[in-house]
Amino acid sequence: MKKILVIGSLNLDMVVNVDHTPATGETILSNNMEMIPGGKGANQACAAGYLGADITMLGAVGCDMYADIQMASLGSAGVDTSRIIKRTETTTGTALITVNSDGDNCIVVVSGANATLSCSDIDDNIDLLKEADLIIFQLEIPLETVCYGAKKAKALGKTVILDPAPVPKEFPKELYRYVDIIKPNETELRMLTGIDRIESHLPEASRQLRSQGVKNILVTLGEKGVYVDSEEAGICRIPAIPVDAIDTTAAGDSFTAALAVMLAEGKSLQEAAVFANYVSAIVVTRKGAQSSIPTLQEVQQYIQHIEAEKAS
Ligand code: ADP
Repeated sequence: MKKILVIGSLNLDMVVNVDHTPATGETILSNNMEMIPGGKGANQACAAGYLGADITMLGAVGCDMYADIQMASLGSAGVDTSRIIKRTETTTGTALITVNSDGDNCIVVVSGANATLSCSDIDDNIDLLKEADLIIFQLEIPLETVCYGAKKAKALGKTVILDPAPVPKEFPKELYRYVDIIKPNETELRMLTGIDRIESHLPEASRQLRSQGVKNILVTLGEKGVYVDSEEAGICRIPAIPVDAIDTTAAGDSFTAALAVMLAEGKSLQEAAVFANYVSAIVVTRKGAQSSIPTLQEVQQYIQHIEAEKAS
């Protein structure tokens, strides 16, 4: 089986339910706090693990209990965490999230150790890049490190996948040259291209990315499915699976991971996108991030079930 390497962020999300969002200077009480492993990199590594991939994660955490919770979650998904760097000078990345009774949230992200992942960490772990077949990046670690890592990965002949989230104010255009597959959602594509009303301008937006050097563009469109523009197979639309979505957290992350897992299995980009669309459909019917990710067996059973329903 081909190897996947995720280079990215690890966070611990602290989710607090409140009656109302506190105003400046106000103190309010809450009855509960959930500590949920998150971070786009860790979510993607975890999803790839549950889907049966040979998966390693490179990232940085602090020496604290948040790191232990995250490591345990990744470990139970079968992710190789042995190269996750432990920093003594900072904390594990955390997201402080309040959710009010209307379901609206306020989030403060503390980058912590994620902000310390450096180009020299890439050099120190270059053997991981050499051993991997597919390498996935997101943008919750320093952009300089992403550019450096992607450039190295490309030079080594690896398949480079970029989940361009969150889109920075100044996206480094150089990065496009090192990326084989980019997977923005609609908002990210709008920010990357500057094209408004993106839904009716998908061909124009993806052409713009193609002209910068990216060969394959997959745009996730939430309940509207996926738009694929690939050098090999041309343009196609994959409709979303009709489901009752209750929580879309990690929908995009699980999509990216599932895509990589199927490419590692030798599937075409279009086949991989169809599979990823099924995986994300399951994820949005469950609460949580890493906890909502299905196993390969669950996905296979789900696909059989949907196919059987279509046939009857
Ligand atoms: P992100 O989490 O990055 O915002 P999207 O919202 O575009 O990503 O969702 C990613 C994928 O998850 C979609 O392309 C689709 O496959 C699936 N998905 C998301 N929302 C729904 C939904 N309401 N019904 C079915 N599938 C969904």
